[in-house]
Formats: sequence, C-alpha cells, structure tokens
Amino acid sequence: MPEIKDPVGSSSRIIAAVRAIETQRPDRLFEDPLAALLAGDEIIAEVIPTAKEYENRGTPFVATRTRFFDDFLMSVAHQRRQIVILGAGMDTRAFRLSWHPDTHLYEVDQPEVLQFKESFLENYQALCYRHSLSIDLKQAWPELLIAQGYQIDIPSVWLLEGLLYYLSENEVHDLLKTITNLSAPTSCLGGDLLNTKPILQSNSELSKHWRYGCDEPETLFASYGWKASVVQPGDEQAHFGRHTYKYPPRDVPDVERVFFVTALKE
Ligand code: SAM
Repeated sequence: MPEIKDPVGSSSRIIAAVRAIETQRPDRLFEDPLAALLAGDEIIAEVIPTAKEYENRGTPFVATRTRFFDDFLMSVAHQRRQIVILGAGMDTRAFRLSWHPDTHLYEVDQPEVLQFKESFLENYQALCYRHSLSIDLKQAWPELLIAQGYQIDIPSVWLLEGLLYYLSENEVHDLLKTITNLSAPTSCLGGDLLNTKPILQSNSELSKHWRYGCDEPETLFASYGWKASVVQPGDEQAHFGRHTYKYPPRDVPDVERVFFVTALKE
C-alpha cells in the first residue's frame, strides 16, 4: 500500500476527511462520495472533534472553501475546456462536478501523493478526461503538462487551493510567472492565501509548514497581468449560511485572515 510521508502531502488526507464529514451532513455544502475512501476511517475519526469545533465557532473553513471553488469552477469551466489543479491532493472534482465532456482536467501533485490516490481510484470513472501528473512544482514542469495535451494557445482554468502558503515567497513568484506564461488571455485562476500575520506566528503541526503570506492579493496578481477579486470566508459571496464568523474589514490591522481569490488574465 503506497504511503504519504511528506507532512504537507499527507495533510491532503486531513482535508479529504473534512470533506467526508461534510458529505454526511444534512445541510452539506457539497457531496464528495470518494472523500471517505481517500481519507480513511482512522483520519476521519481523528478529525471529527476539530471539524465540530470549527463548526461551533462559525468557521467551517474547508467546507466553505470547497463550495466556493466548486461554484467558481462551474461558473467558468464551460467556456474553457482545460482545468489545471495544482497541489490537487485528494481533490475528486474530476469525479463529482458536471464538466462538459470535452474537458481535460490535469491534477498535479507530488509523486507519492498521486501514487496513493491512484491506488484507490482505478475502478472509478471521471466525468471528464482526467490526467494525473506527478510533479514537484519547485522543479521545471511546463513541458510535462504540455506533453499530456495541455494547449498554451487556448484559455485554461487554474486552481491553487491550499497550496500557496506552503511555498516560499520566491517559489510563489516563480509559480505565478510560470502559470502566466502558460495562460492564454481570458484564462481564469482560483486560489486561497493567508495574510502575513498567521505566517509569522505559525507553530501548530500543520501551520509550522506555512511559509508565505500576502496582505494584498489584488496587487500580487496584478503584477502578473491578472485582475483579481478577493473575498474572505464569511463575506456575502462566501458564507453559504454556514460560515457565520465574519472577518473585520480589511483595513483593521493585526487580524489573521484567509483570502479566496478569483482572477482573470487580461
Ligand atoms: N488542494 C488539495 C485540497 O484542497 O484538498 C490539497 C491541499 S494540501 C493542504 C496541499 C497539497 O499541495 C498537498 O497534496 C501537497 O502534496 C501539495 N504540494 C505542496 N507543495 C508541492 C509541490 N512543491 N509540488 C507539488 N505539490 C505540492
């Protein structure tokens, strides 16, 4: 049985566990039938108390983020037939969203993560053309994507969910530069970011791996030619009746924040 040793890689199973728990709720924000399989019973049991705690605080972050980017993808994907999910982890959108059948969806992650994932999925049919790409994003990777059929001259959709804060500042800039070079005009991008405050104070099992924070995502993406819209979970466009905690306005200093970013390449 393949194993995921890297702590950031194995965090993808924790996220899958939260999605499995969400899938059992009568008021679920989405259904992810494969999440329980990919997370495993043991991790789900470990995650249940934390998921309850977040729910009680009005901050069901993972469920809110998943639904937000499900909606984003469905709102842009039908005009664009290639989707690239970087740091895909246990993402099962290829199997659970209603894609146009001509859609090509590329899942990119570290080899050990995708080996683990593929070992569970061989009997399941994706709802689009699904490509699994074992890649370390810190190394040169565009040729591998292109070799799988990705076309640089037609618009694409990128998803960077739960990824950017695990990279260094230089790696984030390199990645955005690469994505921009691979993106035809009217390509779209979605992703989440943390601001700088939690990065400076991070010390929990997972947050100790956080390296990059950004207080002005609009400016970051504009510097690469992307027009970004930024919301915080709990805002009108991102609460879904469940994320009842609302962040203070962005000009209030000293607040730990999460940003959901969607952007269009002009
Ligand atoms: N996007 C998924 C989700 O939201 O469920 C997974 C999020 S998980 C917190 C972060 C993922 O990014 C992991 O699967 C990890 O292996 C991947 N990742 C981090 N750094 C990476 C790198 N340099 N190259 C490829 N994947 C990477």
